[in-house]
Amino acid sequence: MSSFRCPECGYTYSEELGDSREGYAPATPFAELPDDFVCPDCSVRYKEDFEQIVEQT
Ligand SMILES: [Zn+2]
Repeated sequence: MSSFRCPECGYTYSEELGDSREGYAPATPFAELPDDFVCPDCSVRYKEDFEQIVEQT
């Protein structure tokens, strides 16, 4: 599972947690979010702009 961060506002989408506020269940891969997904916080950045966060194990 990975996390993806909005470069505009810092909102982070975690695949592990999903985003219940936006209706994405836990364990929803970022790749399965709709293509027109926009950042829920700033509504400026699209899915393709998000940056993957490499998690240390
Ligand atoms: Zn944002």
